[in-house]
Amino acid sequence: MSEHSNTDQLTFQNPVTRFPSISPPEQHQPEPGLDQKLIPQTDRGQHSYRGTGRLMGRKALITGADSGIGAAVAIAFAREGADVALSYLPSEDPDAEEIKEIIEQSGQRAILLPGDISDREFCEQLVEQAVEQLGGLDALVNNAGRQIAVEDIADLSDEQWTNTYETNIHAMYRIARAAVKHMPAGSTIVNTTSIQAYKPSTHLLDYASTKAAINNFSKGLAQALAPKGIRVNAVAPGPIWTPLQVSDGQPKEALPEFGKDTPLGRAGQPTELAPAYVFLTSPESSYVIGETLNVNGGTPSP
Ligand code: NAD
Ligand code: MG
Repeated sequence: MSEHSNTDQLTFQNPVTRFPSISPPEQHQPEPGLDQKLIPQTDRGQHSYRGTGRLMGRKALITGADSGIGAAVAIAFAREGADVALSYLPSEDPDAEEIKEIIEQSGQRAILLPGDISDREFCEQLVEQAVEQLGGLDALVNNAGRQIAVEDIADLSDEQWTNTYETNIHAMYRIARAAVKHMPAGSTIVNTTSIQAYKPSTHLLDYASTKAAINNFSKGLAQALAPKGIRVNAVAPGPIWTPLQVSDGQPKEALPEFGKDTPLGRAGQPTELAPAYVFLTSPESSYVIGETLNVNGGTPSP
């Protein structure tokens, strides 16, 4: 049959219109923000992601798993057959509980591990708790991050600079270091970087430079761990509609136009990121190491 039928919704879709081109109203939430309060709501794949057993029996720790991209990845991992430990900040409990319920409805275990990863000791504890409660660890997704826009470097405080580095890259190194001790050959690490790694916005100097560091760290660690059979890769999202953007991640007045300058002409939804993480975690990508997979609506990237 040469014609595509409308009923085959999942295998033939126009990427321009697969999700609506949103114009979010100006809104603000205190950091870190909740998915539950976002207008419009995001698509984390809870109603659409269909697994095919690609991560059956895997034990995954995902940071920032309560909302946005991390929540979409957690849902996808569970639908692919993995048990998932969710790391997030205590104030995000309402979002985390929702994702836990979706994972359990998918027939997998969800372990809630609230805590602040900018705290050096907590990074170690987080991994130990995940290992203990999952009964091991063979997949790590370092996805947590903070992004606070500051228009003028004169207003960028030392405290913010340090806090962004602690959360985005220092914690990633500490969590990876603690995790590797427990990971058997075949395990995977996927780190969330950003298009900001190559195209820094003037109002995101601290954030964008951590994302460049994450790319470099991922490529270095990938080479170091490959001989042990542990693969490290990264995903670089473009503009994705998540709570990060309304908790000072963007200037408020920029929200209605968010993502419209991409070749697809719209912001991405968190669920559009999930397949990249599934691919890099599944053994089908066994020869893919130190790669950054760009999921950004078509903006050219190195
Ligand atoms: P999000 O707000 O839903 O997720 C970020 C998560 O990071 C929060 O839910 C929170 O749980 C976690 N976090 C932040 N500080 C923490 C801390 N101190 N301790 C523990 N957890 C902490 O937003 P998102 O957009 O889904 O972000 C996920 C990742 O994607 C981030 O690394 C972000 O930099 C990256 N990213 C997002 C976009 C985008 O446009 N949304 C683009 C490129 C990269
Ligand atoms: Mg959150």
